[in-house]
Amino acid sequence: MKDSLLTNLSVQTLFDAAADAMLLVDNTGHVVQANAVALELLGYTFEQIIGLEIEALMPKNYRNQHHHHRNTYSKNPEKRPMGKGRDLVALRKDGSELAVDISLSPINTGDQQFVLATLHIADKRRKVEEALKISEERLRLAKEAAGLGVFDFDYRHNIIHWDERMRDIWGEESEESVSYKKFVAAIHPEDRAARQAVIERAIDPASNGEYSVDYRVKNPNDGVERWIATVGRIHFTNGHATRLLGVARDITDQKMLEKTLQEQRAEMEALFKQQVASQTVSAIAHELNQPLAAISAYSEVALHALNSSTFNPENLKHALEGAVAQAQRAGKSLHELLAFMQKGELVTERFELNHVLKEALNIAKGDGYGDFSPLLSLEPAMPEVLGNETQVRKILVNLLRNAVEAMRGAGVPSSAISITVRTNQEINMAHVTIQDSGPGLDAETAKRIFEPFFTTKPTGIGMGLAISRALTESNGGQLWLEQNNKPGATFHFTLPFATLAFAS
Ligand code: ADP
Repeated sequence: MKDSLLTNLSVQTLFDAAADAMLLVDNTGHVVQANAVALELLGYTFEQIIGLEIEALMPKNYRNQHHHHRNTYSKNPEKRPMGKGRDLVALRKDGSELAVDISLSPINTGDQQFVLATLHIADKRRKVEEALKISEERLRLAKEAAGLGVFDFDYRHNIIHWDERMRDIWGEESEESVSYKKFVAAIHPEDRAARQAVIERAIDPASNGEYSVDYRVKNPNDGVERWIATVGRIHFTNGHATRLLGVARDITDQKMLEKTLQEQRAEMEALFKQQVASQTVSAIAHELNQPLAAISAYSEVALHALNSSTFNPENLKHALEGAVAQAQRAGKSLHELLAFMQKGELVTERFELNHVLKEALNIAKGDGYGDFSPLLSLEPAMPEVLGNETQVRKILVNLLRNAVEAMRGAGVPSSAISITVRTNQEINMAHVTIQDSGPGLDAETAKRIFEPFFTTKPTGIGMGLAISRALTESNGGQLWLEQNNKPGATFHFTLPFATLAFAS
């Protein structure tokens, strides 16, 4: 049965079934058989190709050489590729050329020698090879550019294969593989457990096998410690981890930078805390300075009254009342200041700014800053503002006190402070302007007056304007110094209206 099947199978049928182009050539170099793929490839019909000298199927400049090769081959026929790695070219019927790889197989029928030539299109293979080369080259370049080392841990043999870059980091110059034990030995002892935990999580078949971990590696040759970031994936076979393939990158510089930044941040924080502490102390001093001076003055008056030959209990009473009032105010101020600094929720209320201004004028007077004539220009029936009344009063007192101190310092004879309270239509806010008749400020001083601790006064603390600005802003307004050529200093501040009252 089998035999009869093979008997029926013609050589031509077999030939045509082959996937490669095939030509059977006799010992005179003439084509005696060709399969369908060969006909298609070379562009001949069966009738045209049979009997052709094989050299007719190659470009002219190859032909002479080929006669010689054919003779050599017939003396020592063997199965081998043709051309010994040279590029071979076939000539098609239409004159076009085709790069091919050709394999030769001698067939001996007893009385005659044939050669079977099998042709593959070389272009296709070459293109694939080239593409592979290009992509390998790209990968290599990318790896190099990213400074990546590659490693492949074979679980079964407990061995790690690694590339040059990895070996460089681990200080192993030549070995292409390393035992897992040796690999781990170079890892910083403090980082081993964390690394192991990450890998174990990835080894769990329920995970997606991916892992990423940073650790330190100490090069045993130079003792240099480097930070390495590794990213990899576990490969499983039948639910068991068999390979761990990963890349490693030296991130030492990045880690050092992070460390420096962290240190700088900590330093800045410490400096900031120090500043806050000293500003707090200065703000407290600012609040206590004046009342303490007043209490001391009242006490002296009281002592004087007691020691005086004409003892007058009224004088004593007046001095003690003054001292008590100052002490109480100092306590209250301190309390408010601390509340503000603790940034508790700001208690706001609606109030009449003109009324608070009058209170501030009285306080300034009571504090010994009453030696000026106030020139008031108050908008009648101004809508109520919204803010913390105590804080707004403090802003006004601070500005008035500064104005008086400036005028006193300059020895201005008829000192006046003009105070305007009006609605600023443009921004729909209450707008207060305080202009004194002192010496004003030069440009350099003007630039710095809102800085904490900036003062030009011998006993100044330099916190009054810094606090006043912070208070204005926390009340939703702005405080600024007007830069102008007018005599004296002009300060402005704004406050929001209690919206509902204004809108109605
Ligand atoms: P201090 O009053 O303790 O100096 P301030 O913050 O209140 O602190 O003021 C800072 C500086 O601003 C003052 O030392 C002074 O040089 C300047 N200054 C403030 N107000 C006036 C003003 N009305 N006229 C001139 N200079 C002023």
